[in-house]
Amino acid sequence: MSFYFLQGIKDMSQKLQNVRVRSAPSPTGDPHVGTAYVSLFNYAFAKNAGGTFILRIEDTDRSRSSKESEEAIMRSLRWLGLEWDEGPDKEGDPGPYRQSERFGIYSKYGQKLLENGSAYRCFCTSERLAALRKTQQAQKRPTGYDGLCRALGEDEIEQKMAQNEPYTIRLKVPAEGETSYEDYIRGTITFRNPEIDDQVLLKSDGFPTYHLANVVDDHLMEISHVIRAEEWITSTPKHVLLYNAFGWEQPAFIHLPLLRNKDKSKISKRKNPVSLDWYREKGYLKEALLNFLALMGWSIGAEREKFTLQEMVTHFSWERAKKSGPVFDLQKLDWLNGEYIRAMSPDELLDRIVEEGYTDYTDVPRRKLLSIMELVQDRMKTLSEFDESIGFFFAREPYDAETLIPKKKDASFTAEVLEALKDTLEGVEDWTTESLEQALQAFCEEGGWKRRDVYMPLRVAITCRRVSTPLFETMEILGKKECLVRFQEAVEKCENKG
Ligand code: GLU
Repeated sequence: MSFYFLQGIKDMSQKLQNVRVRSAPSPTGDPHVGTAYVSLFNYAFAKNAGGTFILRIEDTDRSRSSKESEEAIMRSLRWLGLEWDEGPDKEGDPGPYRQSERFGIYSKYGQKLLENGSAYRCFCTSERLAALRKTQQAQKRPTGYDGLCRALGEDEIEQKMAQNEPYTIRLKVPAEGETSYEDYIRGTITFRNPEIDDQVLLKSDGFPTYHLANVVDDHLMEISHVIRAEEWITSTPKHVLLYNAFGWEQPAFIHLPLLRNKDKSKISKRKNPVSLDWYREKGYLKEALLNFLALMGWSIGAEREKFTLQEMVTHFSWERAKKSGPVFDLQKLDWLNGEYIRAMSPDELLDRIVEEGYTDYTDVPRRKLLSIMELVQDRMKTLSEFDESIGFFFAREPYDAETLIPKKKDASFTAEVLEALKDTLEGVEDWTTESLEQALQAFCEEGGWKRRDVYMPLRVAITCRRVSTPLFETMEILGKKECLVRFQEAVEKCENKG
């Protein structure tokens, strides 16, 4: 389907009274990161304008929708702090806010359209439609309904109905002309009517399709601005035709740039984690995730990348919205998450880790955890890394002798270093970072050892890892006794190997 943009973005100061916006996810599968993204923009805009943010559950597709998915959406949005003012679990005049509880409403509107000639009954069977589609595909033509039933006369319709032939109700898109709408971000978007499909509005079982339910609900819920992702741009002309057919005032339309994989395709779980549960489990901070999602479609100002939800709300305007978003880049999210982690005090960070259940070390005295936190905080990218990066403080981890051996050296060299180091370590009376550092430096200088040849095996001996928290601080926390036991084990490992 082709469409084009004209200049002239609508005056953005319009319609800022009584802002009512909605996020309208379909509860299928895991709670999607795109739902958070769209909800964030709806929320920020509504709160900035002193308006209302609504959560509407679009569960018209009964076979794909599930209660668990709906609960997961609500739980995830709440976790992110995107609380709705009206929604399935909240009071509101235009409720209920779950489309499955509104099924009685839609057929009446379908009838209205039949009566005023904006829609028609289509008796085509699914076999005919499938065959039509196949032919169109084979001829490399755009797929869509060919309008066969538009031409049915009253008598024919009556006859088919008398015979109880099932039918759908389709939108009667004008055969000629154009349909346009204004997008706050993109300006005027125009479609040629012949390219717009005669969309099914009510299925033969009387259930509405997305398009009818969406427009009817947006109208009844007095939605002032429809803010959704770019993928709906081509659905909007159908909605505009519906508003016109009903004689209703249109909301404003805003299509946010899509979240994209590296190859620019729409974000998908084959190429990126898309479940909000995944981000939460990994230990991304909600502040960082929101900030990251905000950057996908908006900027707070030149060069500034880190901002809070509240700052986004305060400074929100569509003028700073982007037409096309950057690629959804997890490395960038890791970086942002790290920034948020480093901006916290060790106390605050530990509180978050404990409260949100990212650590099993809850029996460890807080003072000890805090001193370890000071060593790991700078390197952490996610909260779930905490336990992973501190495990060796509480239990020796298995490693093989090879790990002790510095680059370009062998086991007997390593055994020799460790052997030589033993007395020095045992002789350190005051087991503090400073004394340990001094003792090790003196050891290297006096014995003519290269530092890296000494520090690497020592690090592995103490932490069981090649990459760890700073060595001497770690030794201080572990204490002399434990360090010497670990050291002895390493010596033996190395001797057995050599
Ligand atoms: N139910 C649609 C979705 O899942 C809503 C699109 C819209 O906001 O109109 O994205």
